[in-house]
Amino acid sequence: MAIKEPRLRSLLTQAERNASYGKNAAAETIYRQILDEAPNAEEAWLGLAEVINDPAEKRAAYGRALELEPDMPAAIAGLAVLDGRPIPPEVEVALAAEAAAEAEAPRPAPLLVAESEPEEGHEPAAYELVCYRHPDRSTSLRCYNCDRPICISCANKTPVGYICPECQREAEDAFFNSKPLDYLIAVLVSLPISLLAGYLMVNFFSRGFLFFILIFFISGAVGSFIGRITKRAIGGRRGRYLPGLVVAMMILGVAIPALPILFAILTGNLGGVLALLGPGIYLFVGASAAYWQMR
Ligand SMILES: [Zn+2]
Ligand SMILES: [Zn+2]
Repeated sequence: MAIKEPRLRSLLTQAERNASYGKNAAAETIYRQILDEAPNAEEAWLGLAEVINDPAEKRAAYGRALELEPDMPAAIAGLAVLDGRPIPPEVEVALAAEAAAEAEAPRPAPLLVAESEPEEGHEPAAYELVCYRHPDRSTSLRCYNCDRPICISCANKTPVGYICPECQREAEDAFFNSKPLDYLIAVLVSLPISLLAGYLMVNFFSRGFLFFILIFFISGAVGSFIGRITKRAIGGRRGRYLPGLVVAMMILGVAIPALPILFAILTGNLGGVLALLGPGIYLFVGASAAYWQMR
């Protein structure tokens, strides 16, 4: 049925205006928005059919419009063109009559109407915005921080609104407050402890049934301890790569003491694989805990 609700009506006008400017992607977005709310709006189905490119989708959209309004001339004509059939003469007459009626109807000045309607929730002029990083993409989104228009692929959703990549980066830089020296301190603190823990894991704690029950607790506690003590040593500051650095130190802490076993495996002593099961679990659980503490 024809759209009566003023808000959807205004969206339809907006979509048609975008379509008439050749902004098919923007028009498609609005038509789909209308159809989400009013799936029986044949005008929106017709409009959608005219701005999308996929022939199957186009055919389906014309089909929906005709199901709802079987003698819609524009839909009959559109489908005929899609199939490469001639447009039936009576349809052509109806189309001409429609066009004439439209030409006579008083035309609202579209841009003026759009700009004089600063209603909350939807601004008809919104789709006239263009992404500041992609001049060929129209959008309705703005960065909440700098207020510049951004397209959906540039926008990052945050709890308070969309943010553009530049502002996102700035926010992250403010979040990461570490100093270059912190990386050195982190290595000096976490590497010795990781080596000691790794040595004990590889040489003493890698066998026995009781060990396999306890290893998850021990590993979590050790990893958490390494993370916390390193974090304290650097004054609680955060660095983009600090968590990864501590994880690397923990891997080194196991790999160095395990070198003899690794060589034994390489020379054919596959029994060593079992001996590395415990240290493997320790690394997996412990490094996750340390990473979490360093964030
Ligand atoms: Zn921004
Ligand atoms: Zn963009």
